[in-house]
Amino acid sequence: MGRLQKIFIPFLGLVLAFWFYSARENFKPEMLKGKRVIVTGASTGIGEQIAYHLARMGSHILITARTETKLQKVVEQCLELGAASARYISGTMEDLAFAQHVVKEAETLLGGLDMLILNHVGASYFGFFDGDVEHVRKLLEINFLSYVAMTTSALPMLKESEGSIVVVSSMAGKVGFPFTVPYSATKFALDGFFSSLRQEFSIQNINVSITLCVLGFINTERAVRAAADVLREVPAPRDECALEILKGAALRHRELYYRYSSTRLPLLLRDCAAELLDYLVRSRYR
Ligand code: NDP
Repeated sequence: MGRLQKIFIPFLGLVLAFWFYSARENFKPEMLKGKRVIVTGASTGIGEQIAYHLARMGSHILITARTETKLQKVVEQCLELGAASARYISGTMEDLAFAQHVVKEAETLLGGLDMLILNHVGASYFGFFDGDVEHVRKLLEINFLSYVAMTTSALPMLKESEGSIVVVSSMAGKVGFPFTVPYSATKFALDGFFSSLRQEFSIQNINVSITLCVLGFINTERAVRAAADVLREVPAPRDECALEILKGAALRHRELYYRYSSTRLPLLLRDCAAELLDYLVRSRYR
């Protein structure tokens, strides 16, 4: 009887877990057809791939970053791939007025907004914290405050459309990472702000979803250049990462982990074996 219980109860748990997850809604590309979407940091890397996926799904896309020539090419490619419309605005997110201006343009050009994808990231160094407080302040402006400014400006439109906010973060925003102290700080700030905001939306019955994306090592040019020689792991493909972000956003998930095995699973240790998790993070480096 005891043995039966030992086998039966975990088995029942597995069946229930399978039923729970399979009963959840599945992603369909049509979910994003005709949606009006802003993608920041879309001149290259993951943001560029997000724009291409949205284009194939027939969305209206407004992309932004600093480098106009790259944005022009991404827009051309989006139109070839089938975007309902594709436009760009170039500028720097160091300037909070520019961040707000991008949202205003969406109102003028698209007549509203269904999804705000916050993805851009400012340049930082890879190495021990060098004590440069000014760099931390600047990075907070680009990686955190501009996200807050864009969200604040976009909220009236997102409330009206019952839309979504997507915040691209990192494992380094969930657990301390060496050699990227300022970057890690900005990503932790995003979690604090957007997870708290989600609570307030819930209290106020505001139907705007917030999806926090917790990413591992992805094969973008910047990340590979900075970390391929020092990290032991193989980076995951950026186009697959971009698609997973869009699936999580369309399904209104609160958090998205990619890849699951290198992000969600180790994070399970955070509350019960924090020092072991710290050790595992350090052991990723050569
Ligand atoms: P990239 O460096 O490839 O792209 C960054 C984008 O941000 C570019 O389009 C860049 O364009 C833009 N950008 C940089 N500085 C500014 C600025 N001051 N103002 C406006 N735009 C700016 O980054 P990834 O694609 O690798 O990363 C995308 C997101 O994913 C980031 O939030 C990152 O933290 C996160 N992430 C990435 C990981 C990885 O391994 N790749 C791991 C974990 C998280 P331009 O230079 O033209 O302005």
